[in-house]
Amino acid sequence: MDSARPVPFLDLKAQQARIAADLRARIDAVLAHCQFILGPEVAELEQHLAAFCGAAHCVSVSSGTDALQIALMAEGVGPGDAVFLPAFTYTATAEVPLVLGATPVFVDVDPRTFQIDPAHLAARIASVRAGGKLRPRVLIGVDLFGQPADWPALSALAWREGLFTLDDCAQSFGASLHGARLGRAADATAVSFFPSKPLGGYGDGGALLTESAERAALYRSLRTHGEGTTRYEVLRTGMNGRLDTLQAAVLLSKLTVFEAELQARERIARRYDQRLGNAVTIPARVPDSTSAWAIYAILLPDTAARERMQAGLKAAGVPSAIYYPRPLHHQPAYRAAHDGTVLPVSEDLATRIMALPLHPDLTDADVDRVCAAVLASV
Ligand SMILES: *Cc1c(COP(=O)(O)O)cnc(C)c1O
Repeated sequence: MDSARPVPFLDLKAQQARIAADLRARIDAVLAHCQFILGPEVAELEQHLAAFCGAAHCVSVSSGTDALQIALMAEGVGPGDAVFLPAFTYTATAEVPLVLGATPVFVDVDPRTFQIDPAHLAARIASVRAGGKLRPRVLIGVDLFGQPADWPALSALAWREGLFTLDDCAQSFGASLHGARLGRAADATAVSFFPSKPLGGYGDGGALLTESAERAALYRSLRTHGEGTTRYEVLRTGMNGRLDTLQAAVLLSKLTVFEAELQARERIARRYDQRLGNAVTIPARVPDSTSAWAIYAILLPDTAARERMQAGLKAAGVPSAIYYPRPLHHQPAYRAAHDGTVLPVSEDLATRIMALPLHPDLTDADVDRVCAAVLASV
């Protein structure tokens, strides 16, 4: 191994080499039948995804963001509605309620697992009710970095409060909680196939999972311009939100190695845990769960220590990344929608969190190089 070669943060070429023959055959099949929109691979993928997580229905869509949007459109979410979501997440979670005219209500996260804090959620719902201006409608729980949110607590609270639950599982398809794969933890589950997600396509893509046949039918209608039983009957305002047949073909190929990749990610995460656990704050595991390990995030004491660490790693040919340098309630685009509540955990995490490379094609030698660089920069 060439020790001067930079460690790849993500290695889609190595993965491609592992599935090359199968991938080529599936893409050639699409090129032969030319059904580029809603071709047979789309329905085949939906069946496989539903079976993979035990969900009753799967509707593939054009991206994880569109999955979130279609789920909220189906509930008629709009102006006057409060949509509760964590402040420490990717921008799309907050963008979608705003696009529909609803108001995001930012909730703080757990300082150890980084997942949305059910106790703080309860306080935020109570304060929205007391304010009397917004109607609490939806909870978007995010399974952050590959680990599941505390769905039993979140669902119980949402049930008591009459909220629709949407699982933003964009980062965590393949993870499980209490022995069950994510996909059935909420009223609807949104998945992303952005190339860098654990199950990534070769472009944008996403899916919705639900136990409700009525919701699945609505999602199918909404992803094709609100169409009815015939193509030119328009029942509702929808969107162009379909998954391309070519992406479905790529994802079918990737699904054949997905289980093995999840195991590889877990093995790598454990190797990091063992080597780094005494030197930095390693990710706390959500109890009785498995992670899809989208991101392996460590905590440094402060921003200066993080800057030193990132510089040290860079000099050693080891890439790192910051998810997320700013909590969403501090983003210029979302500040105006925020009620000014201080969210101390999200604000603190943004100053000192840092992600290390984690993908299934990272070798043990790569992991050891990353660890050596981290230990040398503490
Ligand atoms: C990636 C991501 C999305 C959006 O998915 P896209 O497929 O890129 O639209 C939404 N939420 C979270 C938490 C994400 O990480």
